[in-house]
Amino acid sequence: DVSHGPILYLEDVTLSFDGFKALNGLNLTLDDGELRCIIGPNGAGKSTMMDVITGRRKPDKGQVFFGQNINLLELPEHEIARGLVGRKFQRPTVFEQLDVADNLELTLAGKRSPWAVLRAKRTAAEREQIDEILDTIGLLTHRHKLAGTLSHGQKQWLEIGMLLAQNPRILLVDEPVAGMTGEEMARTAELLVSLAGKRTVVVVEHDMAFVRKIARTVTVLHQGSVLAEGSLSAVQNNPRVIEVYLGE
Ligand code: ADP
Ligand code: MG
Repeated sequence: DVSHGPILYLEDVTLSFDGFKALNGLNLTLDDGELRCIIGPNGAGKSTMMDVITGRRKPDKGQVFFGQNINLLELPEHEIARGLVGRKFQRPTVFEQLDVADNLELTLAGKRSPWAVLRAKRTAAEREQIDEILDTIGLLTHRHKLAGTLSHGQKQWLEIGMLLAQNPRILLVDEPVAGMTGEEMARTAELLVSLAGKRTVVVVEHDMAFVRKIARTVTVLHQGSVLAEGSLSAVQNNPRVIEVYLGE
């Protein structure tokens, strides 16, 4: 694996909902280019952690830094989304009435308005960018298909492509294989592995078979902080982790 030093730091992050600490002194460091799996029982704080990283929620306390110098707590959500952190929610949200290539064009970094996109001719640079993404997500031959006619797995890949079009340094992916066939899962594992290296990929996932396919380092969240971190086998054999999962 390629490692280029830390790209994301969360330090002592706490966030309460009506006095209940969804995040409670959370510390997390991600190396640039790594593929990290985040697991943990329901309610552990995984989604809230992603809300904090993407600027959707601001914590009560703590630090969130992108690299050495960018304080994510000082940036609004839309600026974090532009080139820093892309987030894929569980359910795919593509423009069903548009074809695959138009879906990608609409999300290309710093693009014209949707109306201009649909009326104007693509530039050569845009075509090249779109082709590269189509190739990455395995949908080159589906470029003219309406997104609404894609399979569930293909929609998920398209949405990952739409995030790539915004060129994020960190890609957060929430339960990417929920509802996928075995074959789609295998292709998704390959895709996420191939995306890491050039950028940092964080996968929140319940499916342990899938985690086994892709995991380098696994972080286990529990009650808003890190319970264990390490290789999948190390965290699976950690008595505190076993206890938490048995108690679920
Ligand atoms: P996970 O994604 O790991 O299942 P969440 O981050 O969604 O966990 O939730 C962590 C805890 O915070 C849970 O106990 C959840 O009920 C609580 N929580 C999350 N969002 C809200 C909210 N908007 N209002 C109140 N409590 C919330
Ligand atoms: Mg969640």
